[in-house]
Amino acid sequence: MIERNYPYLWSLEEDFLRCMRCGKCHSICPLYERTSRELIAPRGKIALLEAVRDGAMPLDRAFTESMDQCLHCMLCKENCPAGVDWPRLAFAARAESVQGGFFGPIKSFLFRILLKRGRLLPPITTSGAVLIRLLDFILPKNSPWRTALPLPSITLDSIRIFPRPAPKTFLSQFAGFHSAQGKKRGRVVFFVGCATNLVNTTIGEAFVKLYTSLGYDVLVPAEQGCCGFPALGYGDTSTARYRANKLAELLKDIQADALIVPCASGGHMIKEEYPHFLGIDIPLPVYDSVEFLLKVEGVELSRRDGFPPMVFHLPCHLGRGQELPHLHQKTLSRVLGEKFLGAALEGDCCGAGGTYHITHYEMTKDMGEAKVKTMEEMGGELMVTSCPGCMMYLDEALIKAGHPPSKHILEVLAG
Ligand code: SF4
Ligand code: SF4
Repeated sequence: MIERNYPYLWSLEEDFLRCMRCGKCHSICPLYERTSRELIAPRGKIALLEAVRDGAMPLDRAFTESMDQCLHCMLCKENCPAGVDWPRLAFAARAESVQGGFFGPIKSFLFRILLKRGRLLPPITTSGAVLIRLLDFILPKNSPWRTALPLPSITLDSIRIFPRPAPKTFLSQFAGFHSAQGKKRGRVVFFVGCATNLVNTTIGEAFVKLYTSLGYDVLVPAEQGCCGFPALGYGDTSTARYRANKLAELLKDIQADALIVPCASGGHMIKEEYPHFLGIDIPLPVYDSVEFLLKVEGVELSRRDGFPPMVFHLPCHLGRGQELPHLHQKTLSRVLGEKFLGAALEGDCCGAGGTYHITHYEMTKDMGEAKVKTMEEMGGELMVTSCPGCMMYLDEALIKAGHPPSKHILEVLAG
């Protein structure tokens, strides 16, 4: 067998061949809309990938930076007339960059030390939570140091507001077995995900409350770790594969009806990228938390009162990534009645793009702000969604505009 350079790119050769250079992705890609640069949208990037793969250009830093310019919003894939899956090609391109040595020490530490084994991450974030609360108490509200920390400041316009880590991780409090209440319907495994474990622990509490109250035994394995999506997004396929194999191994002896993932990105990763990019199958059926209850089990949810008028943000990895564009809105409409006002800019990415908003804030700042402005125009007072990653980014725009932080749909359904 011929050994080829760039095996990840060759493995997706069909996508290269499918691209007919029509340029439709230019009119779709939100980053192209902001830059008008050929190398930002899939057509230009595919040409660059082919040139590198065929040896006409070097795999260098400029190539790596170009491949990093993507929100993974999947709009181009959904609208490409030839069916090119650019988001997956982006994973392959970044994997080649990592193989080529473009993976700095910070990323290496984050993914290969902290995220891979996962043991150090909880003590670091909970210690960070204590430090942040201490600094919040000590530092004056107009201190310039606040601009470098996830602390509220009196100059909200000029700073970033990052989420605060939780003082106690969700898993340290809820790992184990939670019995169904009343008539038992089934037994599920809850995949918690990093954001719920380390930051928004109330999402996990809502999951356990809702599922047990509906008659499901909930198993929360303590050793579950990260799904590996952040590593895959940065091209570190070996860490992503390690995490996927760990999860498959953990689940292989567990008797349950399903693995439930309330994070849109984590769900997309486990359902789609594990089998189709990493070649790893999970030994249980995998569902989004609302998909399982409403679509698979046909559970009837009773009306929920006491919430302000709210709008939904449809995460890209739910609508396009898991092909669930309407289910959550229908569910909210059913349980909230007239208090649910619909989706804010349905189909548009919020601009988070994993960590893209951290490295390229000015590029996508207006996307989060547009979601909030639309919510206001619709008469909404609360944003609800189903991705803890989107929530962390949208909360910044919401807080700056004087609104409360967003809620996960489970927090609404759990009442
Ligand atoms: S829309 Fe699809 S086929 Fe057309 S240039 Fe973009 S990637 Fe190629
Ligand atoms: S996934 Fe989104 S940001 Fe990335 S190239 Fe496609 S449309 Fe542009």
